[in-house]
Amino acid sequence: MLSKCAICGSEQIELKKIDHYIKRDYNIVFVDVEVESCKKCGEIYFTPEQIKLFEDISEKLKQNKTNDFRVVGKSFKFNI
Ligand SMILES: [Zn+2]
Repeated sequence: MLSKCAICGSEQIELKKIDHYIKRDYNIVFVDVEVESCKKCGEIYFTPEQIKLFEDISEKLKQNKTNDFRVVGKSFKFNI
């Protein structure tokens, strides 16, 4: 656990679940992760493992290796 926030110096750090997303071109992958977060300023801290996971997912998106991803929505583009 972090002892204090690197941004605002607050010691009020809490664990919270967030729906983080990785975007590449028009593709987005949502990942449920538990992160340490500053109660005061809202800054979020990912673990090195989580950052590695996000990089892996981004790389899979790049290579179109999405077989183990579950489709949950559609993307749209509206031209004006
Ligand atoms: Zn903070």
